[in-house]
Amino acid sequence: MDLSSLLQALIPSWNSAYLLLGFFAYLAIAGSIVLGKLVPGVVLADGTRLHYRCNGLVLLLLLVALLGISAKMDFVSPTAISERGFELLSTTFIFSFLVTLALYFAGCKSQSKSSSLKPHTTGNLIHDWWFGIQLNPQFMGIDLKAGMMGWLLINLSVLAKSIQDGTLSKSMILFQIFCALYILDYFVHEEYMTSTWDIIAERLGFMLVFGDLVWIPFTFSIQGWWLLANEVELTTTTIIANCLVFLIGYMVFRGANKQKHVFKKNPKAPIWGKPPKVIGGKLLASGYWGIARHCNYLGDLLLALSFSLPCGISSPVPYFYPIYLLILLIWRERRDESRCAKKYKEIWTEYRKLVPWRILPYVY
Ligand code: NDP
Repeated sequence: MDLSSLLQALIPSWNSAYLLLGFFAYLAIAGSIVLGKLVPGVVLADGTRLHYRCNGLVLLLLLVALLGISAKMDFVSPTAISERGFELLSTTFIFSFLVTLALYFAGCKSQSKSSSLKPHTTGNLIHDWWFGIQLNPQFMGIDLKAGMMGWLLINLSVLAKSIQDGTLSKSMILFQIFCALYILDYFVHEEYMTSTWDIIAERLGFMLVFGDLVWIPFTFSIQGWWLLANEVELTTTTIIANCLVFLIGYMVFRGANKQKHVFKKNPKAPIWGKPPKVIGGKLLASGYWGIARHCNYLGDLLLALSFSLPCGISSPVPYFYPIYLLILLIWRERRDESRCAKKYKEIWTEYRKLVPWRILPYVY
């Protein structure tokens, strides 16, 4: 695609806006009706506390079923998303910009009532809009679910396009299965996500909204778009190796996150059938947490790699997601390391001595 057709494709359209608004309307309406476990968020400046409703899995399955039925009855086209990828991208970008501006002004208004607002300099304005004012990322009942759901919807539309074009390949099938399992697993364990950094520490600013609505769905699906335009021949050995990378990645990712979750609830719960090794009564040094201090990141990186391997190695483009994730998680691990060093002091030093590897044993 040359530059002028790219710019042409990026022009937002009303059709894209309707698709986007339909998606958000569904999330806002169905999200308030469909029941799910309520998990409390952190306490806000005014002493109130929002609650997360963990109903993502039902919302997602219901949405896919509704879209499937509508496509069967010719109400919607299954390729509606994949045929307007770039214009949807720019429309979502503009939407994120406008929503965060509105949130910024709403946040200023409520904070000026509580008189805790900083003096208005240009630096403050940009900082508050970029990083946000309010904790607990939620807007009209829509929270961080939207990005993960959007990612699956884009993938499914890309799959429909490859079927329509008669180009469905083993690579596309593998990519689709791995991503769908990862996204479904995310929603099955949605409760775990309410204790992650994005939810407890990030504010609802442009950075988070852009990351969730634009970055996740549109960049994590690059492999699918790439496979629409490129042919890859996979041998049986490559397919088996690819499945192994996915399975090992999943085992480490889910296993490590689960062990920490279980440990936080019950520090005496056995890990891999044995009593856990605990440092200073607070840090787990058994199981995956005894192999590397962030084994969960290693699992996530292997999963990310498994989404790209079906595209072969002829181009670096489908490797955008694992490369981005590698940079992000190395940076995040370093920030988490200094946070834990401050929080846990000498017991963290002891943990570091016992478990010297950060993410990948004997390498990093
Ligand atoms: P973690 O779930 O790894 O949480 C780190 C925190 O866990 C530390 O701050 C500390 O918090 C606690 N902790 C660390 N070591 C121990 C230990 N040995 N024993 C007990 N507690 C410990 O971090 P994230 O929230 O960053 O990641 C969660 C998941 O999300 C990961 O699997 C990651 O791969 C994934 N992720 C995916 C991204 C993507 O784009 N695909 C982006 C970012 C994350 P405390 O103060 O509570 O003790």
